[in-house]
Amino acid sequence: MSSYVNDLMAQVKAKNPAQPEFHQAVEEVVESLEPVIEKHPEFRKMKIVERIIEPERVIMFRVPWMDDKGEVHVNRGFRIEMNSAIGPYKGGLRFHPSVNLGILKFLAFEQVFKNSLTTLPMGGGKGGSDFDPKGKSDNEVMRFCQSFMTELYRHIGQFTDVPAGDIGVGGREIGFLFGQYKKITNEFVGVLTGKGATWGGSLIRPEATGYGAVYFAAEMLSTRNESLEGKTCLVSGSGNVAQYTVEKINQLGGKVVTLSDSSGSIYDEKGIDADKLAFIMDLKNVRRGRIKEYADKYGCEYIPVGKNADFNPLWNHKADCAFPSATQNEINLKDARNLTKNGVYVVSEGANMPTVPEGVTHFIKEKILYGPGKAANAGGVAVSGLEMSQNSLRLSWTREEVDQRLQGIMKAIHKQCTDASAAYDHEKGYVNYVNGANIAGFIKVAKSMMDMGIV
Ligand code: NDP
Repeated sequence: MSSYVNDLMAQVKAKNPAQPEFHQAVEEVVESLEPVIEKHPEFRKMKIVERIIEPERVIMFRVPWMDDKGEVHVNRGFRIEMNSAIGPYKGGLRFHPSVNLGILKFLAFEQVFKNSLTTLPMGGGKGGSDFDPKGKSDNEVMRFCQSFMTELYRHIGQFTDVPAGDIGVGGREIGFLFGQYKKITNEFVGVLTGKGATWGGSLIRPEATGYGAVYFAAEMLSTRNESLEGKTCLVSGSGNVAQYTVEKINQLGGKVVTLSDSSGSIYDEKGIDADKLAFIMDLKNVRRGRIKEYADKYGCEYIPVGKNADFNPLWNHKADCAFPSATQNEINLKDARNLTKNGVYVVSEGANMPTVPEGVTHFIKEKILYGPGKAANAGGVAVSGLEMSQNSLRLSWTREEVDQRLQGIMKAIHKQCTDASAAYDHEKGYVNYVNGANIAGFIKVAKSMMDMGIV
């Protein structure tokens, strides 16, 4: 690490104590940017990096709500408005008990680069709450969402900040949030994305992140003249991203053998075909049950999460490709080693920052095709951007049209990564998608910030 990165990281850690995920995300980006800063002393002079790591605004608020038994609960709500140099803040809302300021700042920071890569005019933001929707009734979730929006509405707007879904925030939650926004403001505008298809949502938005991660893997494979046909794939999670990752892998001729939730994972050697996926979608999106029920129904292996395990058995199966689609830091160094040992040579990250830094270093050392989340999972926010365009035009595009645009955007992101890696990386002949994504995402935002002066 150079003294520039060292000094910067010391400042970041001193100024943002107890936010390890934020430190991790910043360090990875800043390390990638070293050659860019060397080539562009004007960025250093204007303190572009120092400014980009400081949120433009952080909003933190109380969210009181009443459960079905009449008991009062108090959660904490957040919105991080990270950077608006290239467009309104854009990024999801996460409802999960692990949510805190540091996690949302890491996600908002990543979002800035990801949104820049999509080629669309969107700044970066993220928000959410430590509320846990698991085990809550629909009415409880509705009352929570209404209370959350009663504060959030004054900070967002179609030209200011346009939130979307993330962990724990799907179509049901976006519906309740949008209903409350509309009631308070008396305006029907595209202030949220991920809306229902009958009230302004884009077709393909639910599918977009998972489909996009698979399209990105296909692009990476094409650099070695290969495709997903016949490939065995490991997928983690069983929520929105995981479900549509499985669907697209199946459509492209691959076979998925794993899925998980926070209680455990399943291994189905025969593959999770379309019928089994329909069962998962009903289980997770309608009945809101646990993945173990899949193993009970189809008679396959189920491994509960081991409290003291130092690796995740899901990543320890023979396969070609891996699509982490659950949460941050779900692949540790041992998992990364298990993956490559078992033959995996393509990792396309549907989740945000699912691999620890040592794991990323291992993948790059092994020269596998490794697509980091900010490139590989950008399809979701890209179609959110297309939803904003359709709302502004007051038009809806067909499924085919949105899917075509999504594929075009994933190709464009892949090309930006390979071009930036070739332009700045010392190691010729290997595409370092981490450096490529960080550099390409950064340069567009940095140039825009330079044009706008010190604001
Ligand atoms: P969902 O809430 O739909 O699904 C999340 C899945 O991951 C569930 O199966 C959940 O299990 C599991 N999970 C969550 N937290 C943990 C944990 N701490 N340990 C183990 N398993 C966990 O979320 P999404 O599918 O929308 O999001 C998944 C990932 O993709 C996240 O990293 C998110 O930031 C990222 N992402 C999502 C986008 C989107 O469009 N939705 C866009 C870009 C990235 P359980 O139900 O038991 O909690």
